[in-house]
Amino acid sequence: MTPYRPVQTYHRLWRRKVYKHRATLPAHPVDCPECGLRNHIPQLSQGQEAACSRCGHDLVRVESNPYIAPLAYAATALILMVVVYSQMFVTIEMPGVYSRLTLPGMMKTLILQDWGFLAEVMFIFTFGTPLLFLLLALYVYTALALRRFMPFLLYATRTLVRLREWIMIDVFFISTLVAYIKMYTVSTVTFGPAFWLMFALGVMLIRTAVSVPEHWVYYQIHHLLNRSPLFPSEGKHICCSRCLYFQPVNEEECAVCGTDLFDRRPHSVRISLCFLIAAAILYLPANLLPIMISSNPLSLEISTILSGIEYMWNDGDRLIAVIIFSASIMVPTLKIMSMGVLIASTRLPMPMGIRKMSLLYRITEYIGRWSMIDIFVIIILMSAFHTPMARVQPGPASIYFCLVVLLTMLSAHFFDPRLLWDKATRQQIKPND
Ligand SMILES: [Zn+2]
Ligand SMILES: [Zn+2]
Repeated sequence: MTPYRPVQTYHRLWRRKVYKHRATLPAHPVDCPECGLRNHIPQLSQGQEAACSRCGHDLVRVESNPYIAPLAYAATALILMVVVYSQMFVTIEMPGVYSRLTLPGMMKTLILQDWGFLAEVMFIFTFGTPLLFLLLALYVYTALALRRFMPFLLYATRTLVRLREWIMIDVFFISTLVAYIKMYTVSTVTFGPAFWLMFALGVMLIRTAVSVPEHWVYYQIHHLLNRSPLFPSEGKHICCSRCLYFQPVNEEECAVCGTDLFDRRPHSVRISLCFLIAAAILYLPANLLPIMISSNPLSLEISTILSGIEYMWNDGDRLIAVIIFSASIMVPTLKIMSMGVLIASTRLPMPMGIRKMSLLYRITEYIGRWSMIDIFVIIILMSAFHTPMARVQPGPASIYFCLVVLLTMLSAHFFDPRLLWDKATRQQIKPND
């Protein structure tokens, strides 16, 4: 008689019998959304992923615990979010100043001081997007785990996937550290539970975002509807750039995920260029106008981005001067320049090999949101110091700067990198050049 081993039985049932078959993704072709190459991916089971054989872009993944892990991560993140938004974030004390900041309190201060735009920016990127993202993740994964089709499931998945890149909790956390370096020389700063838990929340949000492989999720949803999203790729079919399933070429909308169907994003260069030009124009007032006005009964200091950095550098805060310089000057400038190079390269000769151009695009797309550090630092400083004894106010440049960051992010978002690969293929440039 075999000894009774409950743990192992449970493990076997959990990992192998219940989920293994359901989690599998069959072999099928996929067009890479970044370089356009058709990849024939083999059958994938739990914990496996496939990357593009030409550009290395991650195409398709099946999580190792695909039903329960995202639910657990999203639920943990949601609980953390409730705590982070209800507890004390940071306390600042100095003669004449006692500020006990909570995150909702900071938004309220911004609204009361007539900086509604900055309040909206903070609300959307640190509260609205993550909250909606987590609720949608819970909704979609509950449906998948229960094997039940629920209303608006496809719409929820589509929104969930799109929200991912607009979550900025991690940027806000780093901004708090930068603000701390600015504040601790003049005041006593005490971090509250909300600050420490914000780090955990950031990690959980990233983990949830990573564990939502949209291609697999769409496959599972269509499985619930007793149909397969797999169309033959031969003949007149087109691969959806979002969900990566093939659709008949005469369809306007993808039947799997509901987004517009296109081979290459229509008017990609024009739209991307428009956003870039707008960003480049607003970059001037963002740098020339004052971004921060700090005052106390004895002095008034109006600083632009550059003069602020210069002041910090001379004052001995060299580390923070370097951080702010990288986030506020270097990243936006490089981003505008590299987007300019990428857009120009679709018409003019490419300045470097296609692999390097592809890398340039990925870096440009990734670093964009980190420029928000400066804006978040000003929001934190403003909430901390708003008494006549010490007052920090955002200058008009803060709004322009915010717009520059968002416009460059949109410019990168609308740029279709496949245009560069198409051009390289046409000119028969070898990828190793
Ligand atoms: Zn590729
Ligand atoms: Zn689609």
